[in-house]
Amino acid sequence: MTLAQERALDRAMEARTRCPKCRRRYHHCLPLRTLGSCLECHDGTPADPANYVHESRHDLVA
Ligand SMILES: [Zn+2]
Repeated sequence: MTLAQERALDRAMEARTRCPKCRRRYHHCLPLRTLGSCLECHDGTPADPANYVHESRHDLVA
């Protein structure tokens, strides 16, 4: 797999695992189609810190 393919795949995964409201990236797919955000943003259920990525900002400048 080429780097470009890997990036495209990662971006596709990220779209499904990152909450658009709190920008947190989870280790699992979010119910974006039904809720539009993670559970915590949706109804206040605190997310288990083990379920999301603790990242410092390291966005790739493309
Ligand atoms: Zn959220």
